[in-house]
Amino acid sequence: MIDKGGLGEWCAKLVADYIASPNNSFNDAGEPAWEAPLVGFSSGADPLYPFYKRDIGDFYVQPIEFFRAAHPSVPVQPEELTVISWVLPQTRATKYDHRKESRMPCERWARARIMGEAVNNKLRAYMVETLKAAGYPAVAPMLSPLWKQHMSEKYLFASSWSERHAAYAAGLGTFGLSDGLITAKGKAHRVGSVIAKIDISPTPRPYDSHHAYCLWYAKGTCGVCIGKCPAGAITEKGHDKQRCSDYVDTTQAFVEEHYGFKGYGCGLCQVGVPCESRIPEGIDLR
Ligand code: SF4
Ligand code: SF4
Repeated sequence: MIDKGGLGEWCAKLVADYIASPNNSFNDAGEPAWEAPLVGFSSGADPLYPFYKRDIGDFYVQPIEFFRAAHPSVPVQPEELTVISWVLPQTRATKYDHRKESRMPCERWARARIMGEAVNNKLRAYMVETLKAAGYPAVAPMLSPLWKQHMSEKYLFASSWSERHAAYAAGLGTFGLSDGLITAKGKAHRVGSVIAKIDISPTPRPYDSHHAYCLWYAKGTCGVCIGKCPAGAITEKGHDKQRCSDYVDTTQAFVEEHYGFKGYGCGLCQVGVPCESRIPEGIDLR
């Protein structure tokens, strides 16, 4: 058993070591899908989780519900659970290629969306198994049968768990005009999480607004992502999920024809913008 003080460091190292290993690859050349991760923690008793259920929709599943469904014989209270969240930043090579595009994904971006997300799924499963083996029962919401897509009255496309909202709770970043999560490594990334019965102190949230890191909301400037979207899905009012989804659907035929695998992807609003790879300059950090 590992002492409580070191549990957070141990979990963060598990994620980092996995991403530093050959498991993190999205092509036959063994090229990494992701750069070194960010890791943060939130409590299963964080009031944000019941807030999400009220705000997003009753279909949203809280950490305690995922955990009890996976481990019905394990006695547990919400405060005994930790949500371990990670951010997997796109690589410099992927961002470099994708910045040159204006309508369709570069091959690396499309690979990151499909093969890179497969790496993320294996990382979720690896974390669950490693935690379990060390005596900490765990569940990955995205691999749970309780994970489902839904339509939200307020937010249109939604699901029973949001990796980005868990990462926000874990102090890893805030939302931008384009809906992406702006983190210390920017907003070009994928996010993951597992929920475990393990006692780890929550990561402090260095912000008091869910838009704190976006120049548009914090300073009334920028708006660069508006002009990056080929679908007109980002405006001064925010992100139009229907337009975005319809556009992403059109990328499928392109990916298959040009790159030879079934995939899709856009994310053009995530590169060539001030929040691509960092919290934008000009944001006052606490
Ligand atoms: S590009 Fe500018 S306006 Fe858009 S999300 Fe990033 S900081 Fe906000
Ligand atoms: S993912 Fe593409 S279509 Fe969707 S908002 Fe970003 S740039 Fe627009």
